[in-house]
Amino acid sequence: MFSTAIAGSLPKPSWLAETEKLWPQWKTQGPELQQAKADATLLWIKAQEDAGLDVIGDGEQARQHFVHGFLEQVEGIDFENKVKMGIRNNRYDAMVPQVVAPLRLKGRVHAFEAQLARAHTKRKLKFTLPGPMTIVDTVADRFYGDKVKMAMAFAELLNQEALALQADGVDIVQFDEPAFNVYMAEAAEWGVKALERAAQGLTCTTAVHICYGYGIEANVAWKETLGDQWRQYEQVFPALAKSSIQQVSLECFHSHVPPELMALLEGKDVMVGVIDVASPVIETPEQVADTIGLALKYVPRQHLIACTNCGLAPMSREVAMAKLEALGKGAALARQRYGG
Ligand code: ZN
Repeated sequence: MFSTAIAGSLPKPSWLAETEKLWPQWKTQGPELQQAKADATLLWIKAQEDAGLDVIGDGEQARQHFVHGFLEQVEGIDFENKVKMGIRNNRYDAMVPQVVAPLRLKGRVHAFEAQLARAHTKRKLKFTLPGPMTIVDTVADRFYGDKVKMAMAFAELLNQEALALQADGVDIVQFDEPAFNVYMAEAAEWGVKALERAAQGLTCTTAVHICYGYGIEANVAWKETLGDQWRQYEQVFPALAKSSIQQVSLECFHSHVPPELMALLEGKDVMVGVIDVASPVIETPEQVADTIGLALKYVPRQHLIACTNCGLAPMSREVAMAKLEALGKGAALARQRYGG
């Protein structure tokens, strides 16, 4: 009951990459960089296990950014000539690569870190990939000329990698779709379909993470414009409830998401965000247990997983470490409180 997991990313140690950045530069290169990525992955597996988490992730230590890490292995993308593009409906500018030719995978994307993580934890292993709609929103299209067509092309590639990750022994493949909270109508119209294409044929558990973004300044400012009630999920959850995706990760603690929207996900496992990623203040176990208690009004206990609101990548390592511990302790307290 109330198993625990993180949304995905964790901070990179200072010897691996620049700290507290969304697109950090690596500190080294070649075989030394590969070794540093492996060391950081192992460090975070240990930290998650020590915190008592049930589902373990690689902390995305081997990729620079959750979208571009995947794109680096895709043929048909010009990484040399990045262009400035407003992303997430122009919430912030990013330097993005351009799609210039038909898309094809150059080979495996995440084999190294997935196999390494699998070899070093006996707990359930979750692996994250960007969702097709979010990828489409994080590249410039100079080839397809049609958003949906390009999303479906990316979905096929994601599916190839997802099937390979499953063969590596990954228990849960999670697609990250923050774009679902920005383009709600399109998400319901074709985003969920593209997601299902990416998950096609998987027999392991499938999940989607939908959030209001990392705790960076542009996102914090955007959230202030969303009013007292954040109802974005209301437009997307009904389509997800009907989909084949099994788990949904959402924001809860310190968000303005009306908790009753969780009830729209009937039949799904709900990864409830009980850890705020936009504040360095460490949650108390009582606060975590309270959030679980709140979610229990709308989510059956056997479907409730305690999770972080989003990735912890841009935070300090010390804060992230303490938040993992709060998550583990809070879920343990909730089991005592609500277990009977
Ligand atoms: Zn997120």
